[in-house]
Amino acid sequence: MASVSFRGIEKSFGRFKVIHGISFDIADGEFVVLVGPSGCGKSTLLRMLAGLEPITGGQIDIDSRVVNDLDSKDRDIAMVFQSYALYPHMTVRDNMGFSLKLRKADGTLTNKRVDDAARILNLTQLLDRYPRELSGGQRQRVAMGRAIVRDPKVFLFDEPLSNLDAKLRVAMRAEIKALHQRLKTTTVYVTHDQIEAMTMADRIVVMHDGIVEQIGTPLELFDRPGNLFVAQFIGSPAMNVLAGTLRSQDGKQFVEAQGQAWPAQAQAQGSDGQAVQYGVRPTDIRVATSGEGIPAKVIVVEPTGAETELLVRVGDASLVVVMHGRTPARPDDTVFLTVDAGRTHVFDAAGGQRLD
Ligand code: ATP
Repeated sequence: MASVSFRGIEKSFGRFKVIHGISFDIADGEFVVLVGPSGCGKSTLLRMLAGLEPITGGQIDIDSRVVNDLDSKDRDIAMVFQSYALYPHMTVRDNMGFSLKLRKADGTLTNKRVDDAARILNLTQLLDRYPRELSGGQRQRVAMGRAIVRDPKVFLFDEPLSNLDAKLRVAMRAEIKALHQRLKTTTVYVTHDQIEAMTMADRIVVMHDGIVEQIGTPLELFDRPGNLFVAQFIGSPAMNVLAGTLRSQDGKQFVEAQGQAWPAQAQAQGSDGQAVQYGVRPTDIRVATSGEGIPAKVIVVEPTGAETELLVRVGDASLVVVMHGRTPARPDDTVFLTVDAGRTHVFDAAGGQRLD
C-alpha cells in the first residue's frame, strides 16, 4: 500500500496546455475519485500517475518516492480500463495470471493468487472460459481480478463501468467498493459520473478545464460546494440556481430573485446589493398546496413511487423540486415553496465563489 502525491503537475500536448498546476495528496488506503466533465484532464492525470504519459512539469510521488522518470512497469500499480483489455486467446485463468507469468513467478504461487482473486470476485466457475464466452460484467471482473493478482501498491481505474448497462453498473459499483473495503489498497478512480463519485469515494477531486475546483468528502461537496461549478456538477437532479441580488435587513439576509425574497445566509462575505447566484437543491424545497411561501406554478408532476419530482415556475425561472411521497398538485396549480436559509447556497455572480 502507498500514499500518492501530485505537486504542481502540468501537462501540455504540443502548445496546448491541458493540466494547469495540480497539487493534492492521497493517503495510504484511500479511495479517491477524479470527476469532471469530458475533456477536463482526469484521464491524463491518471495516465501520468500510471507512467503512460510523460509529465510536462511538477512531481509525482508514490510512497514518498519520486516516480517522474520511473517506467510504468516499475511503479507497482495496476490499472483497470474501460475496455478491459483482456487477451482474447487466453482463458480467464491465464489472463489473470499473465502479469505474474511475465515476472517469471512460480507457477504454484500464480495459481494460488489467481484462485484467491477468483474467489473474491466470484469467478471460480469461469476460470477455463475465454473472454468471448463471458458477459460484460464478468469481463470487467476478470479485468479487476488481473489487477488484484498483481497485488499492487495502487489501483487505478479509468471509467471501468462505462461499457456496462445501468443495472450492472450499480452492481459493479458496490463490488468495487466492497473490494476496496476488503483489500484497503490505495485507489484512484476516474469517472465523469458524479453519482459513481458520490457513492464510491472517500474523497472526490472535482476537475474542470485542467484545474482542481474542489476536494472533499462526498457530503462536504454536496453540503458546501465551494463554487458554482461544483454546486451544479455534484447532486442529481442538479441544484436550482437563480440570478439575484443579495439584501440584508434587520440582521437577516435574503436574495431578491424573480420578484421574490428567498431566505439566504451569506454572512460576512456578501454585501447588500451584491449580484449573486442563489442555489437551492431540489430536495431542500418544501411544497405546500396552500399557506405561506413563494407562489409557484406547477408545470410538470412526475411521480416515481417513493418520491415526486415537480417542475415549477417562479417568474421566468424554472425550478425542480423533489418531494417525499405524493402530492395532490396538478399542472397549472399554484403551490407555495419554502426553503430554510441554512440549506441554501449563495455565490458571487462575478467569480462564482461561495459567499458564506
Ligand atoms: P473524458 O471524460 O472525455 O475521457 P478527460 O477528462 O479524461 O475526458 P483527457 O482525456 O484527460 O480528459 O483530456 C484532456 C484534454 O487533453 C482534452 O482537451 C484532450 O483533447 C487533450 N488530449 C488528451 N490526450 C491528448 C493527446 N494525446 N494529444 C493531444 N491532446 C490530447
